[in-house]
Amino acid sequence: MKRVVVVGSGFGGLEAVTQLDTLFDRNPNVEILLLSDQNYLLFTPLLPQIASSFTDPRHIIQAVREIRGKRKFVFRREMVRAVDTAIRRLTVDSGSIDYDALILAPGSRTEFFNTPGARENSWDYKSLQQGVELREHIIDQCEHADHTLDAATRQTMLTFVIVGGGYTGIELATEMRDFLFRYAAKTYRGISASEIRLIVLEALPDILRGIGPKLAAHARKRLHVSGIEVRTSTRVTRVNKCSVEINGNEMLHADTIIWTAGVRAIELIEALPGPHDRIGRAIVNPQLQLGDHPEVFVIGDSAAAINAQEAPRVAPVAIEQGRVAALNVAHLWKCEPLETYEYASKGMLVSLGMNYAVVNVAGFQVSGYFAWLFWNAVHLYKLVGLKKQVQVAGDWILGLIFPRDAAIVREPKGCNICDKRQ
Ligand SMILES: Cc1cc2nc3c(=O)[nH]c(=O)nc-3n(C[C@H](O)[C@H](O)[C@H](O)COP(=O)(O)OP(=O)(O)OC[C@H]3O[C@@H](n4cnc5c(N)ncnc54)[C@H](O)[C@@H]3O)c2cc1C
Repeated sequence: MKRVVVVGSGFGGLEAVTQLDTLFDRNPNVEILLLSDQNYLLFTPLLPQIASSFTDPRHIIQAVREIRGKRKFVFRREMVRAVDTAIRRLTVDSGSIDYDALILAPGSRTEFFNTPGARENSWDYKSLQQGVELREHIIDQCEHADHTLDAATRQTMLTFVIVGGGYTGIELATEMRDFLFRYAAKTYRGISASEIRLIVLEALPDILRGIGPKLAAHARKRLHVSGIEVRTSTRVTRVNKCSVEINGNEMLHADTIIWTAGVRAIELIEALPGPHDRIGRAIVNPQLQLGDHPEVFVIGDSAAAINAQEAPRVAPVAIEQGRVAALNVAHLWKCEPLETYEYASKGMLVSLGMNYAVVNVAGFQVSGYFAWLFWNAVHLYKLVGLKKQVQVAGDWILGLIFPRDAAIVREPKGCNICDKRQ
């Protein structure tokens, strides 16, 4: 009996495990095991809509066991702590697991670039839990600001800073704008739109790198018109509990600082033998194998394929690499020539909130309402399963007709006022 282990139930890992299942469907001598610390697939493109109460958190995840259906692969909810490539063994919380082939797809974590105070004092935005916590915090800030009389305190409560002008930062900023200006400023009688400040800070000269200079400039104008301040060539040099220091000489006061400025490979990947790139990703060959360990494949956000280091860290890249890695496990065991991963851009789609998006697909650059409809259609189509598609479509339709659902359901975290109460 041979065992292939896949680590991570994200886009790359699930593609790999479902491909393996098809490839080894009739082979009783192959065990396919998926290990992941979370028992669901998170559809990250819709994560910004959690912070703005536009989409229900449960609607953008799908349980692994539901995706598995009648497939034969085994799933275990396990955190993988270490990989011993010399003896082909994984250390997990409940013991150890041996493998004959391994596909590593554990994604990435946030990179704070050693900025003092950033890790402790800013909101990270990568997981569903962080999305839900930020949602509660934003609503909580509105609740407090509604009756706070001191002008300076109100201003700090109603200033929201997003560090990073990539697609995550911009989509999050526009979702928060929709919530704050279209809902909070109208519903909270003590808050007026003129008091709300939403600021995006970007260290590079441009936002939305990768979408093309024309669309990036257009998006920037659109953000400005809709009330979002964008400051480029602006480096955050320190993050305090209620302020950020900019370029070492300017202080911006805000109770909410969200960090979307960079990603890095997780420690498990950084500890693998062989070369790594500057953000800790394992450098793999064009067949996605790890240097001296041809039975170990690394894919998705964790990998830098030597022939495609410019590939962005996005879902389509992880999915394609998952497919190639699964095929290569089968080829390896049959002593056949291996497939090569080739990067081909699938374009870039960025929502700028309600009714507007910028899209660059196959050389076509479009912006506006129809681009937004296209963005919605593509993301709805990409959701796994009819149930999720119906749930998300339902959320969107209800969001167009009714006000946002702004009830706080859990005690908010990191609030200066609520924390004193506890
Ligand atoms: C807010 C946000 C918005 C995004 N928007 C888009 C978008 O619009 N379009 C797009 O293409 N991409 C988007 N991305 C990027 C996209 O999500 C990633 O590129 C993609 O998920 C990478 O896939 P992956 O399989 O490498 O990792 P992931 O999908 O991150 O999956 C990693 C999996 O590994 C598990 N895991 C991690 N460590 C361990 C461990 N030690 N043991 C066991 N399991 C572990 C995790 O729980 C997770 O299940 C976005 C990302 C974020 C954070």
